[in-house]
Amino acid sequence: MKPDELAAARVASLAPDYVRRIAPYTPGKPIEELARDYGLPTDSIIKLASNENPRGPSGKVREAIAGAVAGITRYPDGNGFDLKQALAARYGVGSEQIVLGNGSNDVLELATQAFLRPGDEAVYSQHAFIVYPLATQARGAVGIEVPARDYGHDLDAMAKAITAQTRIVFIANPNNPTGTWWPPAALKAFLDRVPREVVVVLDEAYDEYLDAGQRSRSIAWIAEHPNLIVSRTFSKAYGLAGLRVGFGMMDATLADLLNRVRQPFNVNSLAQVAALAALADADYVAESAELNRAGMAALCSALDAMGVAYVPSHANFLLIHVDDAAAVYERLLRQGVIVRPVGGYGLPQHLRVTVGLPAENERFVAALKNVLGR
Ligand code: PMP
Repeated sequence: MKPDELAAARVASLAPDYVRRIAPYTPGKPIEELARDYGLPTDSIIKLASNENPRGPSGKVREAIAGAVAGITRYPDGNGFDLKQALAARYGVGSEQIVLGNGSNDVLELATQAFLRPGDEAVYSQHAFIVYPLATQARGAVGIEVPARDYGHDLDAMAKAITAQTRIVFIANPNNPTGTWWPPAALKAFLDRVPREVVVVLDEAYDEYLDAGQRSRSIAWIAEHPNLIVSRTFSKAYGLAGLRVGFGMMDATLADLLNRVRQPFNVNSLAQVAALAALADADYVAESAELNRAGMAALCSALDAMGVAYVPSHANFLLIHVDDAAAVYERLLRQGVIVRPVGGYGLPQHLRVTVGLPAENERFVAALKNVLGR
């Protein structure tokens, strides 16, 4: 080791063990990286790896961003007044009950910052969104992973896993990467079993993709459950993943706590105006959900025809069973198709594929047929 490397290693050793043990988050492979690594033209590559909206932002969002560009020399409104007002009106909560996040990921982390001390416990499901264990570990808290049932959250076992040390329970509904989902009645029954001293973070990043009759009713439960945090995002059906904006809704006392640990300007000004425009553009979200429904049905029937098993999904992605997922992933990459390996979620035989545009879905199916020889 060179002297400067040695010095860096010495400094790094001063970081808490629980930080040094964190396994870094692995994002979906960027298109540009695959183009560089395999010498493929970028426009020949399709990315179905990060559960983004394949349509691109709506015209109204583009216009709103263009109109706000001149203002970027100023700091954004740290309280997100306009966006919170619009969200409050949409969801029937007070704006003091809303916490804006740099993506809903930020809201999840803020909950851990506000509530977890080293040694506290956070309960989450096996195969649940990986940010729950990561954010828990970053606080030196203890993650209690409850075995999944049929790939989904075992709510009964999760309720039983709560101890006097538990401060947070994370629920993803629908869950990423499994696409599994519990109907509102089951969640309400679960919530009724959770002690009021335990914060329940109900992550509803994919709620907009649910059929009308299945949509969450959780916001109405906040009044009765002051320990409930409902998180939502503009990254998926609203199509703003690159701008990073999400929000949590909760009792005003909890929101006040999360806002204290929040970075003062965590949501940038373009993200705020874009989210405001996206929220007003209900047609875009409805069309996106419809496109997803049709794409999901097409993917499922193609997989059925190929005899490839998958977990029925309530979101905008599908968890498919392919045995040697690492090898299949690699061979799909070589054909310019990026999907997501989920070995890090304890699913080494599966790949997660995001529903894309019709032509992208067809391309994926053709590439998979090639790889599997079916
Ligand atoms: N929750 C779930 C279940 C997710 O799948 C994701 C995105 N992968 C997020 C939260 C975070 O998304 P964002 O920070 O873009 O809102």
